[in-house]
Amino acid sequence: MDIRKLVKPNIRSLRAYHAEEIPCKVKLDANESPYSAISNQRSAISLEKNLQTLNRYPDPQAKALKNLIAKDLRIKSGNILHGNGSDELIYYMITTFGGPVMYPVPTFSMYGIISQALGEKKIEIPLDNKFDLDVEKILKGIEKYKPKLIFLSSPNNPTGNCFSSDKILRIIKATSFSKQRRGERPFAPTLSLVVVDEAYQPFTGKSEFLPLLGKYRNLVIMRTLSKIGLAGLRLGFLIANEEIINEVNKVRLPFNVNSLSQAVAIEALINKKQLRTYITSIISERKRLFREMEKIDGITPYPSDANFILFRAANAVRVYKCLLEKGVLIRDMTGVIENCLRVTVGTPGENTVFLKALKQLI
Ligand SMILES: *Cc1c(COP(=O)(O)O)cnc(C)c1O
Repeated sequence: MDIRKLVKPNIRSLRAYHAEEIPCKVKLDANESPYSAISNQRSAISLEKNLQTLNRYPDPQAKALKNLIAKDLRIKSGNILHGNGSDELIYYMITTFGGPVMYPVPTFSMYGIISQALGEKKIEIPLDNKFDLDVEKILKGIEKYKPKLIFLSSPNNPTGNCFSSDKILRIIKATSFSKQRRGERPFAPTLSLVVVDEAYQPFTGKSEFLPLLGKYRNLVIMRTLSKIGLAGLRLGFLIANEEIINEVNKVRLPFNVNSLSQAVAIEALINKKQLRTYITSIISERKRLFREMEKIDGITPYPSDANFILFRAANAVRVYKCLLEKGVLIRDMTGVIENCLRVTVGTPGENTVFLKALKQLI
């Protein structure tokens, strides 16, 4: 008996997400922060208190956490939906709205994986040679395929750059709809939700799209705590119009974010100064890494607005393997972008180890 015959065809052809654990001294492969954003005594006390009530279900609405974020971003908590990482929110968005799902490539792999898991059509549009959006192709694709969802990771993973905001705006406008009055036809011929995935926004300092939420009802913003030192908590947020939040909330599992994550996130977010310090250090280290990498013959780093740097190297696979032999783990991107590797910005010490190993190699 072949169990696989029972599996839905779209799942049968899917491969499980491969997150191999490779032992190493310096781990710069997963765009994590080198600093745990939680280290103060208050979080220990809060955690202790929550351990004593682990017999109870968590707050299904994550009210305290959402209120804190709402205040911070100056929005209403009704505009926020909490997820077990933004991965879960991508799942919920595609479950709620379905496909076709459009996104540029190369980009974050989960848009494609989850679309396929849910049996939805994927429309992949290659980026231009500057890793920016090919807006003409995207607009043509929108007309042809009428996607329900468009995912734009900006800054983009794995290329590191922000997409031009005027291009993103053109896409939002082309797919937006004004509030429909009775008897009136929808304003635009194609309605799509545009999800701007701002996982790396803290490293850019810009937040251009948040203020546009009131203006464009098809705009959805996604944020996460994963890249700022709390990847282990699994916490992501959708920020959008209340109508969108309410629809997606229907498919959310009631207790998707556990009570310990909620409590620890609150403590971490209250300690804003600490978070800021870590982010500032990562940004300045990114600049140093970039300058130093530029000086190495045969290495071409691409400018980055995120907490990692994509770089081109002759013999990239060999560079990857040799670095690993020296205890430095980075990400091999050669299957995605020819001759490219991706390194996460670590602590100053880790970055120096990486640079030294790289220089020796070349
Ligand atoms: C890392 C990353 C995320 C984060 O996902 P979580 O599930 O919140 O850890 C989301 N989007 C992009 C583009 C990423 O690179």
